[in-house]
Amino acid sequence: MILAQFQSVGRDLCAQGLISHAGNLSIRLGDRLIITRRDSNLSRLEENDLVETGIDKNDRCTPLASIELPVHRAIYHETSAKAVVHAHPPHAVALSLIETELVPPCGEGSPQLERVPVLGWNMEVKPGGLSDIIARVLKESHIVMARGHGSFAIGQLLQEALNYTTMLEECCKVSCLLKSINASVPGK
Ligand SMILES: [Zn+2]
Repeated sequence: MILAQFQSVGRDLCAQGLISHAGNLSIRLGDRLIITRRDSNLSRLEENDLVETGIDKNDRCTPLASIELPVHRAIYHETSAKAVVHAHPPHAVALSLIETELVPPCGEGSPQLERVPVLGWNMEVKPGGLSDIIARVLKESHIVMARGHGSFAIGQLLQEALNYTTMLEECCKVSCLLKSINASVPGK
């Protein structure tokens, strides 16, 4: 059951081009979490690609977990999320390099997606980093962007966090199209 949820969301992330090289997924179970294994391929997850470890405590499985484990742990500490999806949606990543927040131009189709903060300006963004600030901002937001890196979305289910990720990328795709049209309008 749990594996099927991870497999379904992992396949969708790949099919929609939301993870350029790798992403990671986790769910919370009390004071434990289940997270994708380090370097696992989300398009074909198997039982041994899921790692269970503590939210606070390390154990023998901890070193196998995704390199983003510190961010997932911090999010579960700070928010009521039960699931986290980390992806690399290309249009959102591109805009995060030039904007301090992403403002969806397609609000009608995405009523739950408002301004999406971009974190990591004037900081080095590396995997597993920015965990405290990402978690703090996710108290008020469903999804945030780490500048030039990727998105972190939360939900009660993996599917919900995936939906926020998909919505953000769709809106950013439209933003990029609008910007490209403006750039080529004669006389502007
Ligand atoms: Zn990443």
